[in-house]
Amino acid sequence: MTTYDKWSCLERAQSILSKGGDSLLRYACLELRFCMEAITYEKLNAYSGYVPTKVFKKWQPNHALKMLLQFEPHADEEFSLCISPEPELAKPTGNWTTIGEHRAFKLSWLNKNYNRLGSYLHMPQNSNSFDEDVEDSSKIRKELQEIATELVRILDGDISSMTLATRVQFKCQACDQISVVHESVLRETHHATCIYPECGAEYHVIEEDRGNWQFKMKAICFKCPNCGTNNWLESHKLDIGTKFKCRSCAEMYQIISGEWRYEQESKIKTIS
Ligand SMILES: [Zn+2]
Ligand SMILES: [Zn+2]
Repeated sequence: MTTYDKWSCLERAQSILSKGGDSLLRYACLELRFCMEAITYEKLNAYSGYVPTKVFKKWQPNHALKMLLQFEPHADEEFSLCISPEPELAKPTGNWTTIGEHRAFKLSWLNKNYNRLGSYLHMPQNSNSFDEDVEDSSKIRKELQEIATELVRILDGDISSMTLATRVQFKCQACDQISVVHESVLRETHHATCIYPECGAEYHVIEEDRGNWQFKMKAICFKCPNCGTNNWLESHKLDIGTKFKCRSCAEMYQIISGEWRYEQESKIKTIS
């Protein structure tokens, strides 16, 4: 068991919450945050064959969990894993035995509570009366205890780091690095994002044949008025002020306005 093991972090937080004074609450916040990070990174370890460990160690927990959901869309859902004897292939007898339970936190729960814990790590402002401080501390202690209770429930799940995912790898055209996405995410959303936060290129994905996926980067074409060359700018980078260079004549451009227009659907003439 290491210092940053999820259980060690949680146990230290619980010990502070039950025995420590108010001045130690911020240390309990830190330990609870470490515990949340350890759970997320432990789950990501299952993907070390796809993403180098040193890369995802740099990810902020919010980004790490967002990526986890791209690898494994049901990572934030709870389910039980059951088995049943099969006298014939694909014909279970129906005598199901539960072999494990996957307990996870919702992405929204992680975001909210990870940030809330972070907010307690700053020096409080405008606390000029002792009564206010005492009241705040007991409120914070109660919130931390609720978070710790939820984490105990999650850690008690038997198969929290198990993965049942079917992954699809693709080479990002923007950064040339290998990314990964779960097949059912593609089926449901037809959307994938490059897993590297400094890139973040977005793709529209279509299945040409069963299991043969085509990744098309979402990009807008700008024709260079200087030389007539088509330049492609990734959609997620489009913003007022964005600068880009023509790939042929090296003329610099800057986006100075964007225009979206809309009209009542009933008035839009369709070509039949
Ligand atoms: Zn990329
Ligand atoms: Zn040009």
